[in-house]
Amino acid sequence: MSITGIKGMNDILPGDVETWQHLEEQARRVFGAFGYREIRVPVVEKTELFCRSIGETTDIVEKEMYTFSDKGGTSMTLRPEGTAPVIRAFIQHKMYAQDPVSKLYYIGPMFRHERPQKGRYRQFHQIGAEVIGVDDPKIDAQVLAMLSHYFITTNIPDVTLQINSLGCPECRPGYRESLITFLEQYLSALCADCQRRYTSNPLRVLDCKVPGCKEATQAAPAMLDSLCMGCDTHFNQVKEHLNTLLIDYTVNPRMVRGLDYYTKTTFEMVTGSLGAQNAVAAGGRYDGLISDLGGPELSGIGFAIGLERLALMLGEQSIDPPRPELFIATLGEAATKAGFAMLTHLQRQGILVEMEYTGKSLKAQLRRADKLKTRRVLILGEDELARGVAQLRHMDESLQEEVNLEGLEVRLLSKIHGENEILGA
Ligand code: ATP
Ligand code: MG
Repeated sequence: MSITGIKGMNDILPGDVETWQHLEEQARRVFGAFGYREIRVPVVEKTELFCRSIGETTDIVEKEMYTFSDKGGTSMTLRPEGTAPVIRAFIQHKMYAQDPVSKLYYIGPMFRHERPQKGRYRQFHQIGAEVIGVDDPKIDAQVLAMLSHYFITTNIPDVTLQINSLGCPECRPGYRESLITFLEQYLSALCADCQRRYTSNPLRVLDCKVPGCKEATQAAPAMLDSLCMGCDTHFNQVKEHLNTLLIDYTVNPRMVRGLDYYTKTTFEMVTGSLGAQNAVAAGGRYDGLISDLGGPELSGIGFAIGLERLALMLGEQSIDPPRPELFIATLGEAATKAGFAMLTHLQRQGILVEMEYTGKSLKAQLRRADKLKTRRVLILGEDELARGVAQLRHMDESLQEEVNLEGLEVRLLSKIHGENEILGA
């Protein structure tokens, strides 16, 4: 029996991978222009990093992590998200000592043991960005400006930005208590999960997708009404800056995030086109996380974009492979050797050239050239090689001409480069 991949972990094949490359290239371009630099961290970390940062009573830590002991007995976890590892690296390498402000981004796979369905997988990919060291609301607005701009440049249709504030250690505990008091009245209407977590993590009840819980919590108090002065001012300024930058948003007072480290501004990019999996990006401010993980008292803010969901939104049309500029067909051993040398030489010049490697008939070679939709075919025969000529067939024009081999590579190169320039490639 042949071996298959693991459920919920997808292969990304040629034809689809071009969409991914587009999403990644745009991120590098857009984030680069906003002054972010890439950071690459391992896919595995010590388990305690995620328990301490994401929070023991969150869905991720309670039930979604891939955790195992390595041969030395250390508990390790495949990263379920990128912020904690980036902050761990930031602290470990004392990056704050080089520059008081760090703007970082990452691209890579994340792992969560969830029930696989459309838009929800066990290995999925995120592009994330973090700004460490600035607590000014201008940065919150700029992060959102960058995120919105990314969606525009990648042609992702109808996404809306929702924002909220989750307060800070000064105002959240009071709100938490009033929420618990509210939830107590409706306890019997809540799902089993919510009945369990209403005291350990009551904010999560507001985020529950079970209809009964949604209904029961409709009149729940909102964090926004309990913000302390500092958080209230911060939130108002974020909104003002968003208005100045002409960024559309709606305030969603019920939005909470599934990770404990968030403070003040939180946000999601949501779409109407993906059913239940409607969040395509999410993030927020995390002013306590860096010191909680043993670093200096610095504030942070960031987001993560889910690439699978974006790829789904960009549609399922598969992209054709690139057309070769030239296919070299040969007859006889000497011509094959000469053709192979020419092939390699042109490839080194960055030109897409193909040939058949296994000594097939000319007819079979031409069939392969057709299949690859090559622009030209060079037919190189033994006699012609001796005469220093070859046949060059221009497939789009159905034209064939005899060409001199001397100087042919140079002529081809300048022709191909010239055409590509005209086509803007
Ligand atoms: P959801 O509410 O959909 O479970 P989340 O709050 O758990 O999302 P975050 O941890 O904030 O998600 O991650 C940011 C983004 O990563 C999400 O908005 C989503 O686009 C994507 N994402 C999260 N989990 C998955 C998954 N299992 N499969 C695919 N994409 C995911
Ligand atoms: Mg989730």
